[in-house]
Amino acid sequence: MTSQKVREQFLNFFKSKEHTIVPSAPMVMKNDPTLLFTNAGMNQFKEFFLGNTVSKSKRITDTQKCLRVSGKHNDLEEVGKDTYHHTMFEMLGNWSFGDYFKKEAIQWAWELLTEVYKIDKDSLYVSVFEGSNDADNLKMDQEALDLWSAIVPKDRIIMGNKKDNFWEMGDQGPCGPCSEIHVDIRSAEEKAKVPGASLVNQDHPLVVEIWNLVFMQYNRKANGELENLPEKHVDTGMGFERLCMVLQGVQSNYDTDVFTPLIREIETITNHKYGKDEQTDIAIRVIADHIRAVAFSIADGQLPSNTGAGYVIRRILRRAIRYGFTFLDTKKPFMYRLVKVLGESMGKAFPELKEQYQLIENVVKEEENSFLSTLEQGLVLLDSVIKSSKDKTINGHKAFELYDTFGFPIDLTSLILEEKGYDLDVEGFEKALQAQKDRSRSASETSKEDWTILLEDAEQEFIGYDSLEAKVKLVKYRKVSSKKDGDQYQSVFNLTPFYAEGGGQVGDKGYLEASNGDVTYIIDTKRENNEIIHFSENLPKDISGTFKAVVDEKQRRRTESNHTATHLLHQALREILGEHVEQKGSAVHSKYLRFDFSHFSKVTTEELREVENFVNARIEGHLPFEENRNVPVKEALAQGAMALFGEKYGDTVRTVRFGQSIELCGGTHVKNTGDIWHFKITSEGAVASGIRRIEAITSDAVKDFYFKNNRTLFEVKDLLNNSQDPVKAVTALQEENAQLKKQVEGLLKDKAKNLKSELLNELADLNEVKFLAKKVDLDAASIKDLSFEMGQNKENLFLLLASEKDGKAILSCYISKELAFERNLNAGTIVRELGKYIQGGGGGQPFFATAGGKNPAGIPEALEKVEVYLK
Ligand code: ATP
Ligand code: MG
Repeated sequence: MTSQKVREQFLNFFKSKEHTIVPSAPMVMKNDPTLLFTNAGMNQFKEFFLGNTVSKSKRITDTQKCLRVSGKHNDLEEVGKDTYHHTMFEMLGNWSFGDYFKKEAIQWAWELLTEVYKIDKDSLYVSVFEGSNDADNLKMDQEALDLWSAIVPKDRIIMGNKKDNFWEMGDQGPCGPCSEIHVDIRSAEEKAKVPGASLVNQDHPLVVEIWNLVFMQYNRKANGELENLPEKHVDTGMGFERLCMVLQGVQSNYDTDVFTPLIREIETITNHKYGKDEQTDIAIRVIADHIRAVAFSIADGQLPSNTGAGYVIRRILRRAIRYGFTFLDTKKPFMYRLVKVLGESMGKAFPELKEQYQLIENVVKEEENSFLSTLEQGLVLLDSVIKSSKDKTINGHKAFELYDTFGFPIDLTSLILEEKGYDLDVEGFEKALQAQKDRSRSASETSKEDWTILLEDAEQEFIGYDSLEAKVKLVKYRKVSSKKDGDQYQSVFNLTPFYAEGGGQVGDKGYLEASNGDVTYIIDTKRENNEIIHFSENLPKDISGTFKAVVDEKQRRRTESNHTATHLLHQALREILGEHVEQKGSAVHSKYLRFDFSHFSKVTTEELREVENFVNARIEGHLPFEENRNVPVKEALAQGAMALFGEKYGDTVRTVRFGQSIELCGGTHVKNTGDIWHFKITSEGAVASGIRRIEAITSDAVKDFYFKNNRTLFEVKDLLNNSQDPVKAVTALQEENAQLKKQVEGLLKDKAKNLKSELLNELADLNEVKFLAKKVDLDAASIKDLSFEMGQNKENLFLLLASEKDGKAILSCYISKELAFERNLNAGTIVRELGKYIQGGGGGQPFFATAGGKNPAGIPEALEKVEVYLK
């Protein structure tokens, strides 16, 4: 059965049980400070479980893109070494939100596996939660045990402890007991030798967990206690690739058609066969796995970078490049060549891969190029470290420097050293690494006090779309201290007109005014876990009072102008450059806007002008702002709204429309495009391969821009004696200047030539040295050139040339190298000592040095005294 079919059958099975099929949520998280990536199918439904939001459909089924490379669920280091853990994998799931519970979940899972997929019943094992004697004091899951006992023989039901059979998403949040389904795919012979039940949960590659049925009924509170959820839910997750392995009768996920096309391509590119050598196989699996994680992340809008989620992606990609470099001899970019094959095999289920194919390929290739050159540079450096080592041990600090400054991976360093028979001072490396970690931790350390609650159970409301002022009360506050920002206060209001940073738009600033007139400034506004947090440097004196909260209108209006212009710019780019243009990020400030988008060549001056004209035409068209605050995602998309990185199921969104531009957007906007006044692009450039950036300004900033330009122009005209055509006048000046320059250069050359022959004639013999001490009329650079030229003509030369310019004195001493060496002379020491006559100092090398001083009157004495060095 093809993997395509496996996926379809899963979804259709649950559809037949009245589940709604929904698309996967993005793999890259937005707006959740606790998670960088989706690590389980349930992430996107967290709010439904907690009862904060009600799902429109009580039964849902989907396949969710998951990535387990950081945080609580991190399988990265295992991937490639085993055959059934991936970084990115699909989790098939069915969900009940307060609808069916254990009975149906268990029956349907069994029905699907044994009747639809026809997996041999005798190869399946199930587990049931045995209860716990700890602080939670949880009872054994008798209900699940009874339900399973009705369909599975006793000897294939395994009682499991809290670690395996009580599922929690993190330290807090929805949780509950679970039943796992394991499958034994060993040969009949093996099965006869060792019973499968004894291998369940023992990390055996052929006795693996495929499905976890979680019965959500508790919420883990911050204080560690469990409370009952308002309703009971079902959350199941089945590993798609593992299921394919079972159904396709193979013993490794990598032998399923999910991976074989990738593996064939890797074999072709690298000329290494899969299945011949364990080390090569690991490398091939790592690469086949990691290209998926990287490609899907880029398709979801997350580019490799130096921080946060982007850094995780960069590290995954580099891990794969490294494996290729070391074990498959890939010294040139090659992973980008896998993107096409991946798109062909998975593009149907995940169209985003196909749509962004070109971008993904470009980004991967560029990353490969830059990391490979790092590796090469690192190899050269490592070589020099090896050469200079005296005792066959490489100092840990040196290895750390390679790693830290040049990005050269430590495992590669140790591998190369091992091959060459050298030792690495691992302890020294670890120490240096730890020291660096401590440094960066203390630099970024912030300490947050607990919230002080002032109003229990207060609702919080954002009214900033409609007004910039409100009467508010503080709901809670806390003090936050960090090295970077010092002490700050964060507070939450019951009602707020302040827009919190989000969707690229900066947070509002403003102030709180107490009834006695005292003012507290709000310096920023941000969002955390759906709460709007106001930042200030101090707290109002009477925190329990009522305040007038006022948003800084000027900043807000300018920001709005830039935000609306960003939408128009987006529309213009798609219109003028083409539909391949996708937003890749934006920053909307009060002073300017920045917009990153996918496009594969430089935007020409002509195109930029067209874009400006397009936007300005819509500004002049006075298009009204039309918003709809509560549209289901599907409907919004059907209207043609541009979604950024894919929204998740059940979201209702806000659409913002200006004429033909419709976007899903939570930001604030002008009431009419006419308010923008004018739009002007200030720069265009590349941010990464295939990603361009435009910066632009609007409104007041454009006025300032033109005003400044105009003033400069007037000043230029003024300098040009009020020329009517300054461009022509400047061009003429430039030409004249070039000509004069040429003439001067010629004259100077002649002069130096004459001077040289003159000076050569003047050389005296002093103790077998060609000697001259003289004042000349040249600048320091020319004296140096002249000295070296004379040195080419004459051996055993000793020159002390002096000059005077703008009231300053310069001494230059030249000594032929051999002479300096033989007689132990040092030009540096000589000019330093002679420097006292011109009231200055200097230095240089033994054969050439200069000194500068403020007393030109001392030059003759210096010239006279220099002879002592030769006597
Ligand atoms: P394991 O113990 O095998 O790591 P798990 O307990 O971490 O699995 P769950 O968190 O219960 O797994 O996830 C549900 C299902 O997702 C598992 O039954 C398994 O089939 C699949 N799964 C989990 N982690 C991975 C992974 N890294 N790669 C592929 N599939 C996975
Ligand atoms: Mg796991």
